[in-house]
Amino acid sequence: MPRDATGFLKADYEALVAQSLNWNIRVLQGPSQPHSIVDGKNVLMLCSNNYLNLSNHPKLKEAAIKAVQSHGAGSGSVRAIAGTMDLHIKLEKKIASFKKAEAALYYQTGFAANAGLISQLAGEGDVIISDELNHGSIIDGVRLTKAERAIFKHRDVADLERVLNELDSRPTPPRRILIITDGVFSMDGDIAPLDKIAKLAEEHGAMVYVDDAHGDGVLGEKGRGIVDHFHLHGKVHIDMGTFSKAFGVVGGTVVGSKDMVNFALNKSRTWLLSGSSPPATAAACIAALEVLETEPQHVQKLWDNTTYFKTELKALGFDTGVSETPITPVMMGDSAKAKKFSERIFEEGVFALPIVFPMVAKDKARIRTMMNSGLTKEDLGLALSVFEKVGKELQII
Ligand code: PMP
Repeated sequence: MPRDATGFLKADYEALVAQSLNWNIRVLQGPSQPHSIVDGKNVLMLCSNNYLNLSNHPKLKEAAIKAVQSHGAGSGSVRAIAGTMDLHIKLEKKIASFKKAEAALYYQTGFAANAGLISQLAGEGDVIISDELNHGSIIDGVRLTKAERAIFKHRDVADLERVLNELDSRPTPPRRILIITDGVFSMDGDIAPLDKIAKLAEEHGAMVYVDDAHGDGVLGEKGRGIVDHFHLHGKVHIDMGTFSKAFGVVGGTVVGSKDMVNFALNKSRTWLLSGSSPPATAAACIAALEVLETEPQHVQKLWDNTTYFKTELKALGFDTGVSETPITPVMMGDSAKAKKFSERIFEEGVFALPIVFPMVAKDKARIRTMMNSGLTKEDLGLALSVFEKVGKELQII
């Protein structure tokens, strides 16, 4: 029998469809903003990561346009060869200063930062300890190493301590220990106990790596992130973040000591071997940081909206889980119900996606809402009335 070279492509896809696990991609006709046009329909956007609506800020757009005019559309190379422009360097200086850290490195994406750096920080003879609910890009970074892996229970510092004690009591303790956690967990919107993790790490001589993708622009003074939120400057060895969410653009960052940045740029294969970000992107990121420094109202509005929306959802009888941030899950139970809910609210003019197994446990399907500072009280009132109507229709409340 000759081998069927590609039959799995169709078979695997159809298996996903049969379990309702395939993606049906919706398309935006225009900018991602509080009122967006999606699949031809005008909807309230409740599932973008554009928390501060900065992707539509005139200063960011103008910076991008100017950079195309002054520097062209592309960078022409990987950063290490001929793809580092003055705009990339300016951006890295700005990030370091925004985060009150010694140095920063800018990657093409946050995924590239996690995959490129985590894989270099630990190897044979080392141990990486991860929160069980860490993001997939961390998991992939960890999978690229030969380091031993250990998991601690979600946000459970006692369990982390148990793992650290076990490692230190071995006849040959690990050469290096790297503790990695999300700052804000993307499915539940809860916050890592980074202060306690950093303390334990110090006691055990471990490195701390936080993925602050959902804390950047959201937590801390002026949105400086989770390290600032807990006043841990200098105590978290790698503060990784992204420009693809609250900052409204795209790109990953790692922030920390000069030694860490020198190491990261010489070792991260994603940074060394993949083309650098276009100048327009770097320029828009610089503008995003300038806006955060000068216009604190966006972060304030994001939190005001978040508090209002969460409180009202709870008052309607919805279960919003353990969220402490602008990511608010609305628990549905099983996947079919979550999918139906998402379809119905879309018909009613609200766009929020269902999160289902395998992204979360089978009985923990939810609608994940993400708040936006550009939504008005009236918008939120409308969204709440749609949630109430569909919630009653599907007997969730
Ligand atoms: N970490 C977390 C926690 C994320 O949610 C994401 C984005 N989904 C990333 C990393 C990857 O960031 P980026 O979009 O910049 O690749």
